[in-house]
Amino acid sequence: MFRCPSCGSSEVYRVAGGCLGELYRCKKCGYTGAFIVEVDYDRAPGNERGE
Ligand SMILES: [Zn+2]
Repeated sequence: MFRCPSCGSSEVYRVAGGCLGELYRCKKCGYTGAFIVEVDYDRAPGNERGE
């Protein structure tokens, strides 16, 4: 599971980065960058569930 490093949203998707490699974009705040937070969702104490 990926999370936005800016707002913490999980609504992050990968976009084509061309020669830059992988880039990610956040739907919530518009963050775009190569850096992304990867978390072990099973251990996350948050109240969001994938169901
Ligand atoms: Zn964000």
